[in-house]
Amino acid sequence: PLTTGIVGLPNVGKSTLFNAITRAGAESANYPFCTIDPNVGVVDVPDERLDRLAEMVKPQRVVPTHFQFTDIAGLVKGASKGEGLGNQFLSHIREVDAIIHVVRCFEDENITHVAGKVDPASDIETINLELILADLESVERRLERVSRQKKSGDKMATLQHAALTKLKEALTEGIPARQVELSDEEREAIKGTLNLLTAKKVLYAANVGEEDAADPWSNPYVQEVKRIADGEGAEVVPISAQLEAEIAELEGEERRQFLAELGLEQSGLDRLVAAAYQLLGLITYFTAGEKEVRAWTIRRGTKAPQAAGVIHSDFERGFIRAEVIGYEDLMAAGSLAAAREKGLLRLEGKDYVVRDGDIMHFRFNV
Ligand code: GDP
Repeated sequence: PLTTGIVGLPNVGKSTLFNAITRAGAESANYPFCTIDPNVGVVDVPDERLDRLAEMVKPQRVVPTHFQFTDIAGLVKGASKGEGLGNQFLSHIREVDAIIHVVRCFEDENITHVAGKVDPASDIETINLELILADLESVERRLERVSRQKKSGDKMATLQHAALTKLKEALTEGIPARQVELSDEEREAIKGTLNLLTAKKVLYAANVGEEDAADPWSNPYVQEVKRIADGEGAEVVPISAQLEAEIAELEGEERRQFLAELGLEQSGLDRLVAAAYQLLGLITYFTAGEKEVRAWTIRRGTKAPQAAGVIHSDFERGFIRAEVIGYEDLMAAGSLAAAREKGLLRLEGKDYVVRDGDIMHFRFNV
């Protein structure tokens, strides 16, 4: 499954946030795979549409879709040179689909800051620099090899060389790979060959103290993070990791009341999941039957057979057709039976691109 890695300097609140995630997941459901890897945390994806669907269909069971986080501890200054957990840390980042960068925006003199004072700009720079240095090394190594091939007149090598040179120049100036403009041809030429850390999408989680949770944007450190993120075209989600740990202990009505008392509509974790979902280009489709109403995650642009494959590989292999209705259409019809009577259920084939909110019923051969 897709995963986002949580990174940040020591003592910024990563473990606190990760523990909140793990606890929230443990409260809501049983995800067998997260007991295998202690660095993986799983949370439900909140979705009002699922609740409405459940009210309509009244199934025995309602299952939300989930989202996975990986805790990547151990980044310190010098990681790209192998200090701290160094290379091990960097290789873990290579495996994630996007990065959540936790930045300390709370003051607490009892909690040491590795650089001596709370300073989001400097913290972000420290982390980014390590990632950039690691990428620069990958690019330079690759460039050496490609330079030799280019001399023999290889067209692919020439394109790769052009792309790598642009990347090297940018990285040398401290610009992350994701901000480098490459032509489609160049992009295609180096695709899958580098897996650069700074090419991954980033979301900043600005960790504020509990006292700032209701109005985090008034915190000057959060504003600082926002300014930097805007410059990179990245998003910021303010969050109070400590408060999230408390919220994660609660469920249902108790949870809603606690949030209301704090003046919050959603937990920070819910907002973080929503932002990460966006960042990764993910959408949700639903299956709805008497036994179970359930949400499933796919990438935007996924066709029906592959969407079915998320449920079971047999569904993809034996895919024949899907019966489909959009969420709004179903709500307007009032029930699945009414929608069927009105002929609102469409039959779609293997080239159908699934849309966000579709309710799908797959027909397949076993
Ligand atoms: P990590 O090293 O980034 O994983 O940081 P931790 O999650 O272990 O947090 C370091 C310390 O900061 C712990 O003692 C936390 O309890 C504390 N901490 C985390 N978030 C907050 C916060 O919002 N306010 C305060 N005052 N302390 C926090």
